[in-house]
Amino acid sequence: MTDGTRPDGLHPDTSGDGVQERGTRGGRHAVVIGGGLAGITAALALADAGVRVTLLEGRPRLGGLAFSFQRGELTVDNGQHVYLRCCTAYRWFLDRIEGTALAPLQDRLDVPVLDVTKPEGRRLGRLRRDALPVPLHLGRSLATYPHLSLAERAKVGRAALALKGLDLADPALDAQDFGSWLTAHGQSARAVEALWDLVGVATLNAVAGDASLGLAAMVFKTGLLSDPGAADIGWARVPLGELHDRLARKALDSAGVRTEVRTRVTSISYDENGTWSVQVPGETLRADAVVLAVPQREAHGLLPDGALDAPEHLLEIGTAPILNVHVVYDRTVLARPFFTALGTPVQWVFDRTEASGLREGQYLALSQSAAQDEIEEPVAVLRERYLPELERLLPGARGAEVRDFFVTRERTATFAPTPGVGRLRPGARTKAPGLYLAGAWTATGWPATMESAVRSGVSAADAALNALGRPRPRHLFDFEEAA
Ligand SMILES: Cc1cc2nc3c(=O)[nH]c(=O)nc-3n(C[C@H](O)[C@H](O)[C@H](O)COP(=O)(O)OP(=O)(O)OC[C@H]3O[C@@H](n4cnc5c(N)ncnc54)[C@H](O)[C@@H]3O)c2cc1C
Repeated sequence: MTDGTRPDGLHPDTSGDGVQERGTRGGRHAVVIGGGLAGITAALALADAGVRVTLLEGRPRLGGLAFSFQRGELTVDNGQHVYLRCCTAYRWFLDRIEGTALAPLQDRLDVPVLDVTKPEGRRLGRLRRDALPVPLHLGRSLATYPHLSLAERAKVGRAALALKGLDLADPALDAQDFGSWLTAHGQSARAVEALWDLVGVATLNAVAGDASLGLAAMVFKTGLLSDPGAADIGWARVPLGELHDRLARKALDSAGVRTEVRTRVTSISYDENGTWSVQVPGETLRADAVVLAVPQREAHGLLPDGALDAPEHLLEIGTAPILNVHVVYDRTVLARPFFTALGTPVQWVFDRTEASGLREGQYLALSQSAAQDEIEEPVAVLRERYLPELERLLPGARGAEVRDFFVTRERTATFAPTPGVGRLRPGARTKAPGLYLAGAWTATGWPATMESAVRSGVSAADAALNALGRPRPRHLFDFEEAA
């Protein structure tokens, strides 16, 4: 936006009134604000339905909270991201940007769980599934899971069945906390640590005691108790930026979306003639529909008066941090693609060597969710804490040289899934005609995930298409039925 011509064909205002006429000439024009997964999805879905779309992103890249950056020869993800087979919307997104092969799923759920609680040594357990129907698919794995006693395993089975019976549509679930529910259903502190939190902290970004029962039940029912393959894990074998920036950009370009990065929207307003004015530095864009796909605090700042009954709810949605610890060794110290651990502050560890472009040695990324206690710790303190822990977990790390150690901090990685958060999350429609909300934090029923972001983008596009009188393209919205 510095020279006279912009790649989207918009020209800096020369008329003196600062208004682009684009939205009022031929076809319907939608402006999507925010180029995270929610905004990219909304833009693609609207463009696929024949709407003229402009996507505006404040940063120099697309991908929002799931991005990559360069550190010397390494391409680093800001945070390890995984998805599950049940994330049908994110899988639709991967397909749509032609990225599925770059972020494959495991054939079958298989999570190595290394326990170093006992001084006598390390013990490896696995959470795996069989090709049996639900809930038997997890039966054998649970029956042989070495990190719980026989009695604890039996009680886990009973709690899982009780969880399966919960009605996710019951709003009362959101008001309760998952930790109390687990205690009431006979779960010991060890069972919570070694099983429920192992999965829950990584997916909800909160320990059970801080999480809404509604969101936790949704995650466990959908992931572990719906379809045998639902919890098979997928992750990008390339940097996230390759998917969410480069390939997304390519798909947007081919769909005819005009994408503007480094373009921060400063205000939006409703015009008397029924269109919207979207203000970016130096000019105003006109649109028939606007999708606001920015984080909740930014959305609150941009929403016009009267657009929501209780706009203050957006500011009441809390946030939760995720810390990633990155370690480059001079040699291979981990023989698996990933593992998770008990009895140590280390949560999940992924081998990022190939994806990062590292040619020699091994690069591990530690994903530390619900990191409220250490998100502000200095790098030196984290180094002192995590390198000895990795040596405890991985004998091969004991003699290895650490070639690089750094951390990435995402202080507002997700919304906090606290009890009661459900009533604060608005849906896609606002009271202002033609203005829609998207973002992982909106009312998708999912915790703050890539799946939630994509679902929200589809919902916003769906609502906008409805109002613009455009038919829904059938192929866009059938991901919910996809296996
Ligand atoms: C470290 C980390 C690990 C995670 N791990 C996982 C995981 O394993 N699995 C998973 O599913 N999810 C994970 N998540 C969550 C996931 O990344 C997010 O839920 C998802 O990416 C959110 O997408 P979004 O589009 O809703 O919002 P965002 O990604 O926040 O996108 C909003 C965009 O709006 C832009 N913007 C803001 N204001 C303006 C403005 N005024 N004008 C123009 N643009 C603006 C921002 O720059 C941003 O690009 C993780 C997140 C983090 C940070």
